[in-house]
Amino acid sequence: MNEIRTRFAPSPTGHLHIGGLRTALFNYLYARAHQGKFFLRIEDTDMARNSQEATKAILESFEWVGLDYDGEVIYQSKRFDLYKTYINKLISENKAYYCYMSKEELESLREKQKAEGKTPKYDNRYRDFTGIPPKNISPVVRIKAPLEGFIEFEDGVKGIIKVESKEVDDFIIARSDGSPTYNFVVTIDDALMGITDVIRGDDHLSNTPKQIIIYNALGLKIPKFYHVPMILNHQGHKLSKRDGAMSVMDYKDAGYLPEAILNFLIRLGWSHKDQEIFNLKEMLNLFDPKNLNSSPSSYNQEKFLWLNAHYIKEKSNDILENLLKPFDCPIINGKKKDVLYNELKDRVQTLKEFSIMANEILTSPNTYDEKSLKKINPSAKNILNDFINSFTNSDLLTQEDFDKHIQSFLQKYSLKPAELMQPLRIALLGKSGGIGLAQAIYIIGKEETIKRIQNFTPFINP
Ligand code: GLU
Repeated sequence: MNEIRTRFAPSPTGHLHIGGLRTALFNYLYARAHQGKFFLRIEDTDMARNSQEATKAILESFEWVGLDYDGEVIYQSKRFDLYKTYINKLISENKAYYCYMSKEELESLREKQKAEGKTPKYDNRYRDFTGIPPKNISPVVRIKAPLEGFIEFEDGVKGIIKVESKEVDDFIIARSDGSPTYNFVVTIDDALMGITDVIRGDDHLSNTPKQIIIYNALGLKIPKFYHVPMILNHQGHKLSKRDGAMSVMDYKDAGYLPEAILNFLIRLGWSHKDQEIFNLKEMLNLFDPKNLNSSPSSYNQEKFLWLNAHYIKEKSNDILENLLKPFDCPIINGKKKDVLYNELKDRVQTLKEFSIMANEILTSPNTYDEKSLKKINPSAKNILNDFINSFTNSDLLTQEDFDKHIQSFLQKYSLKPAELMQPLRIALLGKSGGIGLAQAIYIIGKEETIKRIQNFTPFINP
């Protein structure tokens, strides 16, 4: 079998969003699973719309999620001379030609065709032109598209795609300033880079017949195409920012793990039985573009968070500590760190949430949740004071000590667990819910526990 060579070819005109990253992942997996090559090509020929920031974000995103590419990044903006060679080659072989039609002429042709109920289309007027070119017009270059027959290819996702040649006009391959057009550069690069398989969004499906015309004109080998349907929101519409169409790096800032993103993305448009969790190794073993779905996939935020929670839970506490650094998670050491991390790991869905909860536990609350406060019985004041007394001269140290102490306190004063736990929880953490109480006391320490209870008791209504 020939070497599989794939590429991801983003246009750096906006931020890399997750749909783009999904395309990259599919291409990456296919190449890597077959010991092939995966390239990154920045399609930055549109000088007016390119942004360096977008290019930077693409590279950063790749590094963050760990998709490595072969060789150097390829920038189309550095390859204009090369494209020119191929444009000249086509002209010299009479497979492309200069078209001197002015913008106004083209416009009036369009209007006329529309008025006649026809689809606007270039009328080939310079296709075989041998006369004297009009002055003061910088010509565009058009390719000679076939006049009859069909352009046909087998798409790996969509099946046979067949377009009548007469639907495709002699399209422009170089603008009047000499710059090559989008379809031309994509084709040249894919061919010169030896790309064997192109997996891309199905918004490019209509470009493919044009690209095939270019491949054929230059006698270049046509790759296999896979056009992947879009990711939609759960109402079946195009993803908007509100649905989560954020840039990849926004997900990093929101506390997602790369493993979760890749796992989430692979399931959007591809499946293997009803398996949901895939680590990279499994993805490499199982992914095959032949199994790409031909219907659009649906973005499911809950599932994304569920996966993120799963991968957070899987991390060792030391690794997690490192990952939490950008989120200003308070530093805590030794056994207390393990107790806190083990408690939080089971409860959070993002690193950001982890850090917020850790901060809430480690800082004395300065407000108390109103609703929880209302539920507190006036007797809680005495109970908490007794609890402080029971604590003050004790030599409790470990989490188990605190756990036992709470139990024996309840027994000694014949209390139902909630009678102590509810007010204690609010005193220590500011609200109901959260981590285990014995764990919380162990983490914040005896002195601080007493201080927090003392701060809280004046808030209990007599
Ligand atoms: N540059 C194109 C884009 O960002 C992709 C081209 C391709 O994959 O063929 O949509």
